[in-house]
Amino acid sequence: MNNEKALQLLKDIIAVQSVDGKEKEVVDLLEQPLKEAGYECEQVIFAEDPTRTQLVATLKGTKPGKVFGFSGHTDVVPVGEIQWDSDPFTGTERDGKLYGRGTADMKAGLVAQVAAAVRIAEENATFNGEIKLLISAAEELGLLGAGELTEAGYADDLDALVIGEPTDLQITTAHKGVFWLRVKTFGQTAHSSTPDKGINAIDHLVLAIQAIQEQLDIDVTDPVVGPSTMSLNYINGGNGNNVVPDNANALFDIRTIGGQDTDALFNQAKDILDRLKDSVPGFQYDISVEADVKALSTDKESSLVQAAKDSLTNNNHPIEFFAFSGGTDASQFTKAGDYPIIIIGPGEMSMAHQPNEYVKVQDFYDMIEINKDIALNFLNQ
Ligand SMILES: [Zn+2]
Repeated sequence: MNNEKALQLLKDIIAVQSVDGKEKEVVDLLEQPLKEAGYECEQVIFAEDPTRTQLVATLKGTKPGKVFGFSGHTDVVPVGEIQWDSDPFTGTERDGKLYGRGTADMKAGLVAQVAAAVRIAEENATFNGEIKLLISAAEELGLLGAGELTEAGYADDLDALVIGEPTDLQITTAHKGVFWLRVKTFGQTAHSSTPDKGINAIDHLVLAIQAIQEQLDIDVTDPVVGPSTMSLNYINGGNGNNVVPDNANALFDIRTIGGQDTDALFNQAKDILDRLKDSVPGFQYDISVEADVKALSTDKESSLVQAAKDSLTNNNHPIEFFAFSGGTDASQFTKAGDYPIIIIGPGEMSMAHQPNEYVKVQDFYDMIEINKDIALNFLNQ
C-alpha cells in the first residue's frame, strides 16, 4: 500500500459519518486491504448492534514469538455548531494538510497503522511472533468498544500495544484515567404557579453541584501528566416549563492520575451529598459511577519504548515524549495484563474535537513507516 493509496483510504473513511454509529462501514473499508495482504480478519459485533463492528486482524510471522498489537478507534465526535471552512466529511487537502472530522482524532492514526500492517505483509518482511490489530468502536463514548474487546479476551495475548491517537509523532507512555460520576436529585412535581407545593429537583441539583465542586478533593499532581481535574459537562432535568421538576442529574468528568483511588473519591462525594441531605429539607439523591477507567503508566525503559525510539531515529524524527491529557482505549487494554502500551500517532491532540480539524499529510506518510519499524523492531528484538 503506497502513500497515495493510504491517503485515498483515509479520505474514504473520513467520508463515513461514524458519529456514535456506522463503525462497520469504516471496518469494511479497512478490512479489505488487510485481507488482501493475508491477514486473518474477524469482525466483532459491538453492543449487539450489527451496524457497529470492531475488527481483529492477525498475521503470523515465520517463527513463534511475541504478539505485537496496533489499535485505533473508528468513531468520531459530532461536528458541532461552528461552521467549518470545508465539508467535515470530505477529506480536503490544503497547504500540505488534510482537513476533515477525525483526521487527527484519529482516522489518520488508524490508517497509518493499517497501511503499516499491510506493507509488512506486502514487503514480505521477516518477523517472529504475530502482528495483531484491535480496531475499536465507541471510543468517544467512554472507551466502550475496547472494553468489550478486552472483556472478551482479545487483548489477553498481547506483549505490546501501540495506540495511534494524535501525539504529533511523539511517544506517550502515560495518561490520565477517566472517572465519571452521575449525581441525580429527586423532588416532587407541582404546578409552577404554586412551587411551594413541590420539591424542586433542579434547585437541589444546583446545591449538589456547588458542594461537589467546592469540596471534592482532587488536588493531586503527577510529574508526567499533571494534576487531576474535574469538569461538569452534562446536566439534564425537568419535565416542562410549567411543572416543578421532580428529577435532575449531572455528570462529572474527573480525570485521574496513576495511584489516585477512585473508590475513595466516590465515598467522599457520597459524604458531601449525605451532609446536604442532613441540612436541606426534602433533599434526595442518588450517586453512581458511569465510567472508571485506568490511568496509563508504561515504563520508559520497556522494550516497546526502545523499539519506538529506534524507529523514530531510523526515520529521521527526533525522540520526544508527550504528556497526553485525554483518556484512550489503553485504559481498557491495560486491564488484560502487565505489558507495555504506548501512544503515538500523527496530528496534534489540540486539533481533536475542533472545527477545521486537520493532519499534516507528510506526518501521516511518515507515521506509516514509523509504525512499520516499531512493529518489526519489537518482534525481532
Ligand atoms: Zn481519539
